[in-house]
Amino acid sequence: MLRLDGKTAIVTGASSGIGLATAQAFAALGARVAVGARRFERLPAGDAFVRLPLDVLDPASCAAFVEQAVAGLGGLDILYNNAGLALGRAPFDESSEEDEQLVIDTNVRSVMRLTRLCLPHIRDNGHIVFIGSVAGRVAYPNGASYIASKFAVRGLSYALREDLLGRPIRITTVDAGAVETEFSVVRFRGDEAMAKSVYEGIDPLTAEDIADIIAFTVTRPPHVNIDEVVVKALAQSSGSRFVRREA
Ligand code: NAP
Repeated sequence: MLRLDGKTAIVTGASSGIGLATAQAFAALGARVAVGARRFERLPAGDAFVRLPLDVLDPASCAAFVEQAVAGLGGLDILYNNAGLALGRAPFDESSEEDEQLVIDTNVRSVMRLTRLCLPHIRDNGHIVFIGSVAGRVAYPNGASYIASKFAVRGLSYALREDLLGRPIRITTVDAGAVETEFSVVRFRGDEAMAKSVYEGIDPLTAEDIADIIAFTVTRPPHVNIDEVVVKALAQSSGSRFVRREA
């Protein structure tokens, strides 16, 4: 693994799960990392980190975050657009205006906004990383808003690859299967038992597994662009198909 000494990074949604693990992985490789989330107290602390409040749904919060992050870091090399969520597992007839808006605004519009705000600051040989999902490649039942949002993330990464072609900025999307984080607790609105059942008997991916892959993509030589990574637990073949060990 090459190092990130002298490099800087922004990680959104660094208070939990994949964002937290990736911010820590970047720091362990020598980067300085600006980290943001609503739960400020859960952001990683230490010399490597610039800790800032961030609500990706609020344009003013995003603008202040990027300004203070770039000022605190003294420039920007890597943007990891991590903040995101799913809500519920129900047929689309049971969807609501509020849930659709929250999922699309968090996973798509906020990612576009943060990317747009960061782009002018990204230095040569910089990198933009998106987190997609296996849900953004093949649909599964009862997850329409999340599936639509992650298809959109993949579309955005393809579009940016076209618009930025010729500039020294790399773009990667990591499409992950089931990763055991707080993701399912949020998805099932705090129902811990339901959340736990998602990962039962499958040896799910961990946040550290994904952080390791993201760290790999951003430490390749500057001419190497890893466009997409698809990663699932061995016991998962699609968004809806798992082989579970008997309890
Ligand atoms: P997680 O543990 O629930 O972490 C989600 C992070 O997003 C938290 O740090 C949260 O911070 C942040 N976030 C959510 N809304 C935000 C907002 N309005 N403003 C700022 N930050 C916000 O879940 P995770 O699994 O690590 O998810 C991270 C990303 O991975 C998401 O984009 C998710 O779709 C994607 N992903 C997850 C899986 C999986 O199976 N877990 C699979 C594929 C892709 P605060 O609540 O403190 O603001």
